[in-house]
Amino acid sequence: MKNGKNWSLIYTDYVPEQEKLREALCTLGNGYFATRGAFPEVDADEFHYPGTYLAGGYNRLSTEVAGKVIVNEGLVNIPNWLSLKFRINGGDWFLLRAIKILSFRQEIDLHDGVLKREIRFQDAHGKTTNMQEERFVHMKHFHIAAIKRTITAENWSGKIEIQSALDGKIKNVGIPRYRKFNSNHLEPLEQGVNEDKNLFLKVQTTQSLISIALAAKNNFFLDGQLIPVDGKAIIEDGFVALRYTFDLKEGSSLAHEKYVSLYTSRDKAISECLLQAKNTVSRDLNYEKLLQSHKKAWKSLWGQFDIEIETTSEPKNNTKQLLILRMHIFHLLQTVSSNSIEIDVGVPSRGWHGEAYRGHIFWDELFIFPILNLRMPKVTLALLKYRYRRLKEALHAAKIAGYNGAMYPWQSGSSGREETQKVHLNPISNHWLPDNSYIQRHVNLAIAYNICRYFEVTDDMDFLRSYGLEMLLEIVRFLASICTFDVKSDRYEILGVMGPDEYHDAYPKADKPGLNNNAYTNLLCAWVLDRALNLLKILPEDHHREIIDMLEIEDEELIHWEEISKKIKIPFHDDQIISQFEGYEKLKEFDWEGYQKKYKDIQRLDRILEAEGDSPNNYKVSKQADLLMIFYLLSNEELQKLFNQLGYEYSEDLAKKNINYYLKRTCHGSTLSRIVHSWVLSRIDKKASWGLFCNALESDVADIQGGTTQEGIHLGAMAGTVDLVQRCFSGIVPQGDTLSFDPFLPEDLQCLCFHLHYRGHSIEVEITQSTLKITSKYSIARKIWIGFKGQKYKLSAGEKHEFKL
Ligand code: BGC
Repeated sequence: MKNGKNWSLIYTDYVPEQEKLREALCTLGNGYFATRGAFPEVDADEFHYPGTYLAGGYNRLSTEVAGKVIVNEGLVNIPNWLSLKFRINGGDWFLLRAIKILSFRQEIDLHDGVLKREIRFQDAHGKTTNMQEERFVHMKHFHIAAIKRTITAENWSGKIEIQSALDGKIKNVGIPRYRKFNSNHLEPLEQGVNEDKNLFLKVQTTQSLISIALAAKNNFFLDGQLIPVDGKAIIEDGFVALRYTFDLKEGSSLAHEKYVSLYTSRDKAISECLLQAKNTVSRDLNYEKLLQSHKKAWKSLWGQFDIEIETTSEPKNNTKQLLILRMHIFHLLQTVSSNSIEIDVGVPSRGWHGEAYRGHIFWDELFIFPILNLRMPKVTLALLKYRYRRLKEALHAAKIAGYNGAMYPWQSGSSGREETQKVHLNPISNHWLPDNSYIQRHVNLAIAYNICRYFEVTDDMDFLRSYGLEMLLEIVRFLASICTFDVKSDRYEILGVMGPDEYHDAYPKADKPGLNNNAYTNLLCAWVLDRALNLLKILPEDHHREIIDMLEIEDEELIHWEEISKKIKIPFHDDQIISQFEGYEKLKEFDWEGYQKKYKDIQRLDRILEAEGDSPNNYKVSKQADLLMIFYLLSNEELQKLFNQLGYEYSEDLAKKNINYYLKRTCHGSTLSRIVHSWVLSRIDKKASWGLFCNALESDVADIQGGTTQEGIHLGAMAGTVDLVQRCFSGIVPQGDTLSFDPFLPEDLQCLCFHLHYRGHSIEVEITQSTLKITSKYSIARKIWIGFKGQKYKLSAGEKHEFKL
């Protein structure tokens, strides 16, 4: 199945109210920096928000809010390199809102990583002009971006002025809810035009002191001929522009190429960032050559990451789902790619596409790593090292809180300290509320789980020995230290935490936050403890000793961990329902119908209820999958083993009952929720699972939360949809030396093809409703095993297996 279509997201109208959403969806990035798809002629206003963000480019600012000084670390909107304005015959600067649009087309070409725009328009004097534009953020030469714009005077002759700028007079004002907070992250250092007639600008973040330097070169072509030009310089603090004037004859075209290079004081292999930026644009840059090498970089990425699907929707091979899946892969690779390997970044929950959640790193990597593990595991490794570098901070955080081991923060940024905001604004009630979400200690479980899964896929013993086990065991230590023993039940407990469902942060009317025995946290804690003990055992004896000595782990500690892994408490109610947390059964049932009627969109029940003087803490309502996360993360066999080890009964029937119970009580206030529900339903109710998968696909492209995507894409949901296709519908489980398959395609999915990279093998997988084909491309990779229906089959490089389903 080779699919040449479904590579472009196309808009054929200009809708100001949708523009910020499109800017997020049309963001171009390369894992080093990203630029929103804002028009080059606009400044930040009601309908537009130009934004360029450095991966991991954070800065801290203090603000007095509600009588308290609050320090927030945020992802900084850095200077706008796009800035390109023009005007005809001294009229107003071109703005789409001010002219008559004759035709409009904007396309983000996912295959090539190019954003294009073509507009024909007429001004108040009847002059018709055609404008074609394309831009890219280079996927390989990741310090370079370029934009090319061609303006054709269709029925007029006259003067055209073009202003090309580097604009550092930028504030972080992308999120209305954050506007009360200080937003001036940048101070200007240097700006001007150098002897090569190139623009340059250097700014610095106010607290983290990251110097950011840009340089830009402008080339102009009149009817295809390069023309020498002298622009008039406009230089202000934090802003530099060159203004050029041309005479344009009727029918003539003026093409403008703007090359930009971006470096920071954090870059490697440079002397000083401004010098490097200037040197880069002064060198022989050729637009076509750069574009071609950029396309090649994307071609190679698609060779590794593309997924093809054929659904029952007509026409075949032309499904909207395929396009959206590709868009999701596209944004994942623009956020983290091989360019991220050499820099110290984590994977942000909202991409580097906007200012939502201030660019912080949450537990969402749980939904993202599986895609990378089976395709580009070296990127997972780099992202796990982001956590490793912050282990000291996590050890410190645990100590301050009175615990042992490493306590990773719920929200992480530059240093790995807790970055969760202290207060948040409910935009419905306008109340500032305490943010207790930092007590989601399960973020530690996610990191531990990811270490285990990365190792399972890669068998990377070096990682385990050098970083993985150290992090894992320090997390285990922390988990063990938050467990207390309840004599009455003869079980271990974890008190005062929050599960993934953020609508419950306390018991009704309680004066302090925290819930007891969140079942997901306890179950995964037992799994992690057990897994860590097993991983310790597989190390060569000397390495085992080495790590035990280095971390000063006593025998009693190991015994204690094992005991917890067998005796942690899981609360139940109504016979076989696992309580989301202890006491959950006492909460009131919620009037779903009534609220749906009253408010239509009830995804943000927390805000609605708070504005009514009520709280979701009083009800059996979940923002997102909580207990059900365990069925998402662990296979049936693992669940069976886990429950046995804990002395509880497990059956597929119990799983079904719990899935039905909680699905009814969830409002999907997080885009992660539908991923989990679609996954856990995939073997129980194919139709419902497919429905939720399709809804999850719409999360960003249709902005189903009504306004959040414009603030940044939802990377967990994006990667999660791809992983549903990749691992869930195909039933892939990497185990030991065996890659097992158990395909179970939804009825609407006729065919599914993708590529995997597994232990040196380049594997092509094709699944239909009746067959499974697995082909390993010829190489020197050592043989692996394929698991299918309980049997193991040897797979050498160059071999193929075909199974009937
Ligand atoms: C979800 C969290 C998630 C965060 C960032 C929140 O709305 O409840 O689970 O980690 O968004 O994506």
